[in-house]
Amino acid sequence: MVEQAQDFFRESFYNDPAVVAYAPGRIEFVGNHTDYNGGKVLGIAIQQGIYCALSYRNDRKVLGVSLDGEPTFTSSLDDLETLSEDGHWSRYPLGVVWAIQKKGIKLERGFNLAIFSNLPMGAGLSSSAALELSIAYAVLADEKHGFSKKDLVKICMYAENNYVGVPCGILDQGVSGFGREDQLVYIDCKTESFSNVGIPQGTHFWIFNSNTQHSLTDSLYSERFSECAEGLKVAEGFRPGIECLADFPLSKLDSLADHLSRKIYKRVKHVLYENQRVNDVARHLLSDSVDLRTIGNFLYDSHESSRNLFDNSTKELDFLVSHLREIKSVYGARLTGGGFGGAVMAWTSIDFKKSDAAIISKLYEAAFDHPPRILHCKSGDGVHLI
Ligand code: ADP
Ligand code: MG
Repeated sequence: MVEQAQDFFRESFYNDPAVVAYAPGRIEFVGNHTDYNGGKVLGIAIQQGIYCALSYRNDRKVLGVSLDGEPTFTSSLDDLETLSEDGHWSRYPLGVVWAIQKKGIKLERGFNLAIFSNLPMGAGLSSSAALELSIAYAVLADEKHGFSKKDLVKICMYAENNYVGVPCGILDQGVSGFGREDQLVYIDCKTESFSNVGIPQGTHFWIFNSNTQHSLTDSLYSERFSECAEGLKVAEGFRPGIECLADFPLSKLDSLADHLSRKIYKRVKHVLYENQRVNDVARHLLSDSVDLRTIGNFLYDSHESSRNLFDNSTKELDFLVSHLREIKSVYGARLTGGGFGGAVMAWTSIDFKKSDAAIISKLYEAAFDHPPRILHCKSGDGVHLI
């Protein structure tokens, strides 16, 4: 893979890259929409990711190419306030550079960058965060300016929120940054602290991408974000001093019922129970005798909560979860990522085979006229220079 990234760079810019950085995609294991509510989340960095090969220039231009059919772009370190058109991938590299400079670092030299990826875009595996982090590591390879990994995770999230314009929480960049092989990443999104928790041996991750995405996904995501903020405002009246929705005690949830619309109450209920589930799953994972079925049931509960309370599931995702649930080698399954389409994650034993995935695929195709995209994922390391 690295060689392919280097070759692509040479073909594009007729010299060798000075550096190659890599950042992985991620799976949200449990913790749906808890991140921007100051809650907890557990994720897995996977072995598919993005390579950014880069060389420095003697002028201030920024040139980017990607092998994924995305259009080449030319920009300049002096022209970052002029946004490229909405949806253009240059927003990610330019946003990262913009966010670095917002921290008071003046980058002197422009660069050429070539992106090589084996991570599907828009498949709920956070190719955007992988792209941002691989670029941040490559751009700062020769001079880190004192930034820690956590700083860079936050810079990338800032870029995605404020330059690209997507209000994501810290899950995506945090897991792509702090992933480790055979480990989950546990994030306390309020304190922004990251730690690793071992993945039970012999368990596997499968992604079933529904290949459907609501056309309003971005605005629906923003709507949920605002609904949670609305819930927090009322919750603050009952618990002055709470900093985020996840701070509100679950035991006092009932007291909010008469003061919130039914819709907002459902959102709040989801966030508080989901946050508790993440803690429960982490506790079970850390216990001496890990009970995989119990953890799996938390994953199913998480899906039900997304479906009934957060209203971010779809009939396709529900279909996948309900059929996966019938297979014995599946411990748990749930929608993963923002929802409104996208993907389901199944957590399985080694006995779950390609043939099982094929059965699900057939059933799905019969119901929806197109097959899901299926990916068997292994856990892998977070962002690093090659
Ligand atoms: P996700 O993060 O779930 O994959 P997003 O919509 O957040 O989906 O990010 C996908 C966007 O990231 C793409 O539309 C594209 O702009 C950019 N992107 C991801 N991978 C690449 C790549 N290999 N080359 C260029 N742009 C990419
Ligand atoms: Mg993304």
